[in-house]
Amino acid sequence: MLTKSALERYVDTHRKSKELYEQALNIFPSGVTHDLRYFEPFPIYVSRAQGTRKWDVDGHEYVDFIMASGAFFLGYAHPSVVEAVTTQVANSTHYSACHELELEWGQLIQQLIPSAKRVKFVASGTEAIMMALRLARAATGRQKIVKFEGHYHGWFDHLLIGVIPPYDKPYSQGVLPEDLANTITLPVGDEALLEETLSRGDVAGVIVEATGASYSAIPMKKSFLEALRRITTKYDTVLIFDEVISGFRWSPGGVQALRGVTPDITVLAKIMGGGLPGAAVVGREEIFERMKFKDDPHWNRYERVPHPGTFNANPLSAAAGIATLKLVATGEPNRKADEAALKLRQGIHKIIQDKGVEGGCYGEASTFHIYLGPCDRDTSQYDGLPPTQDPTRLKGIPSSITKGIALNMLVNGVHTMYRGFTSAVHTDEDIQKFLEAFDKSLDALIADGVVSLRK
Ligand code: PMP
Repeated sequence: MLTKSALERYVDTHRKSKELYEQALNIFPSGVTHDLRYFEPFPIYVSRAQGTRKWDVDGHEYVDFIMASGAFFLGYAHPSVVEAVTTQVANSTHYSACHELELEWGQLIQQLIPSAKRVKFVASGTEAIMMALRLARAATGRQKIVKFEGHYHGWFDHLLIGVIPPYDKPYSQGVLPEDLANTITLPVGDEALLEETLSRGDVAGVIVEATGASYSAIPMKKSFLEALRRITTKYDTVLIFDEVISGFRWSPGGVQALRGVTPDITVLAKIMGGGLPGAAVVGREEIFERMKFKDDPHWNRYERVPHPGTFNANPLSAAAGIATLKLVATGEPNRKADEAALKLRQGIHKIIQDKGVEGGCYGEASTFHIYLGPCDRDTSQYDGLPPTQDPTRLKGIPSSITKGIALNMLVNGVHTMYRGFTSAVHTDEDIQKFLEAFDKSLDALIADGVVSLRK
């Protein structure tokens, strides 16, 4: 069987990675330091990455379409970022003081993101989400937060519900029912239900992945974003866009600039850190009033929202972020990454159709989503839209398919998931390598009976 031989080939040719994984099992639960790196029978161990390529400890070269879960937009080790970081590291990675780079970093964000009248830096997307919720609650004096089914906002307890089906069960053990008591999960697209929920007057904020769940795996219509803006304004509720992935990627100004819908608060991370940890909460000036110090001890002690965090706006992340955002500001990286992704999606879609497999490839901006399963519309031509309207199917691709793609792609020299990212430096040759590997991988999945052929 083809997949079996892919597994054998993988084990045979990745002996050093296997050895390292055996050591890792004695250090980390299941041997990994991020869930996405958990891989059967064992993950690859990478020793170097440059541009779109990476090399593992067994000497294999891969073309990469993961790009640090979307954090790299200019490819790995981009020369401008390397230079900025190298210079900065010698001048210290922390000053225990304010510095000029944080101004430049903040100004670039203000220049690019329409909602960014004020900026506060933190270290990760999850921290930024925590602060956004706190600000919404402080600004409104209300407790409840509305989120949407299938939307992921990091691993803060209050939002660990409604992420994967069943949507009424927490995403993790160890989350208290009290932590979730003020979180309301709504289906996407139901404007009447949203209005009814907000009309009760106790919702502080509505948070949404502005692309739709998982960077447009389940796309969100512009009309629903507009409805969110209209309804939240009507009930004085804070609208929060989670643009951790889409910020600077969907356009230099994120989804909000592209769709012309401006939220009250935006959460940013990933690309803005230029490949280093760095995130921000940005938004309307009045909301950020809450974070100001005043000449009033009562305010400072009881009314303020504090902002600690040892590595907030550290100069190393700032240097990498500035180098990246300066290039993003030209618009060129977006144009190139989008063009590469479009070619990739079209190519993948064609291979799926030519082989007579049920499914397709879709996505927006510099992302792609491979869907192999029952379709409820004509998929003969690529149009960028999901092959089914069923959100559960779109987010619930069977693991036999996701694992089968990842393993077969790896043995054919491509490191990817069934969805992923292009960067500004992906070339036609990189796309070609992906498509050749995908062609072989799909043959293997067909031979194994993991995917079904159209009737
Ligand atoms: N929101 C979204 C939409 C994300 O995709 C992620 C991370 N992938 C987060 C929030 C959390 O960001 P971080 O991993 O930096 O905590």
